[in-house]
Amino acid sequence: MYDVIIIGAGINGCCSAYTLAQAGLNVALIDQDGIASGGSGAAGAFISPKISKAGELKEIMGEAHAEALEFYTTRFPQFTLTKPLLHIANSPQESEKLEYYKYETTLQHSKIDNELKSLLTSEASVDSYIYFSEGAVVDAQGVCNAMAEGIDFYPLKVERLIHSDGEWQVGDLRAKHIILSIGAYPKLLPIDYVGLRGIWGHRIDIKTDTNIPCIFHHHVSISPTTKDGIVAIGATHDVHYSPFTGELYDREQGRLQLLEKASKTLKLNNINILNDYTGLRSGSNDYLPMLGTLVDAEATLNKFPHLRYGERVNPSEYTYYPNLTMINGSGGYGFVLAPYLAKRLGEWLVDGKTLNPILSPSRFFPRWAKRQS
Ligand SMILES: Cc1cc2nc3c(=O)[nH]c(=O)nc-3n(C[C@H](O)[C@H](O)[C@H](O)COP(=O)(O)OP(=O)(O)OC[C@H]3O[C@@H](n4cnc5c(N)ncnc54)[C@H](O)[C@@H]3O)c2cc1C
Repeated sequence: MYDVIIIGAGINGCCSAYTLAQAGLNVALIDQDGIASGGSGAAGAFISPKISKAGELKEIMGEAHAEALEFYTTRFPQFTLTKPLLHIANSPQESEKLEYYKYETTLQHSKIDNELKSLLTSEASVDSYIYFSEGAVVDAQGVCNAMAEGIDFYPLKVERLIHSDGEWQVGDLRAKHIILSIGAYPKLLPIDYVGLRGIWGHRIDIKTDTNIPCIFHHHVSISPTTKDGIVAIGATHDVHYSPFTGELYDREQGRLQLLEKASKTLKLNNINILNDYTGLRSGSNDYLPMLGTLVDAEATLNKFPHLRYGERVNPSEYTYYPNLTMINGSGGYGFVLAPYLAKRLGEWLVDGKTLNPILSPSRFFPRWAKRQS
């Protein structure tokens, strides 16, 4: 009998397991394919600020970014490489956003020096940029494994969740609380209202004679050269490919795309591709991450049938699955958001603080219910 069973051992599951175990809870972690085997294992895992205009998303991302830098550099320094970060706009729209961001950000940034400028292609040197003095990239698989150390791990594919007598049953395991951190995989519960999109991505690790002194974000992201002489390039954003359709992914085409995009930023000499990493990241329809309880759609529609016709009901009156929380929808910022989300999950489960309703996965429920008429 555990306090919490976490299903999905990506960065969200591992970071939640780490945070809850540190807070004294008895935690079990489950994954069908092993630790960091989904989107998290494929991630470039850059801890970079999101360049966005004012609003809730910007505020949450700003807070999450600051917390993540502090979290990884102090708790997992052996898996964290800190270097300056050069973000170059890749379109006129991004350039506009970037100039606005540059004007009002409190993050330290400066002009690039001639040495760095000399590495850039002529296309990259004319685009607008922001050069942050502090950026970071983490070893995605290393950090997930380190977080899961000492936690009971079960390599299982969860087919069904059963709740009876006040506890959840997952195979032979039992717990009071379930955390569902399954990324873009099939949802395990009838929660069609949770608007998630799985976006396929590809990253490669290469060796190159070119020494990369900082993090680059432009058409793709390029990591600094690690102490082992490795440079990571990622990621592509393929909204059409899904591993669940049985279609084969064209890896060679993906590699070509990554190298071609990287060559728009700088020239990489004598490239040798060492490894490919692919996976799905799951983004929410409104770009905000998800942390919260899940509405039992059938029970709620039975209780309030007029939700189908747009009747307004206070969300506190919906019927929720008991003691079940979802963390998801982090899109391309899963590693940035995970410490922020896990911290709030802990404060909620352990200290009884309330969760931010803006992040509730059930925020999509009323609009979905209206389409069920
Ligand atoms: C190529 C690429 C590059 C990226 N780069 C960055 C980056 O630079 N910075 C950043 O912050 N983010 C980045 N991301 C995004 C980030 O990786 C994701 O947001 C993050 O991995 C989401 O983590 P997760 O734990 O929610 O999901 P996942 O990592 O997908 O984990 C879900 C896990 O659940 C398991 N699971 C699902 N269903 C079941 C079941 N029924 N039973 C048992 N186990 C189950 C899966 O096996 C999987 O391991 C990138 C993503 C990709 C694909």
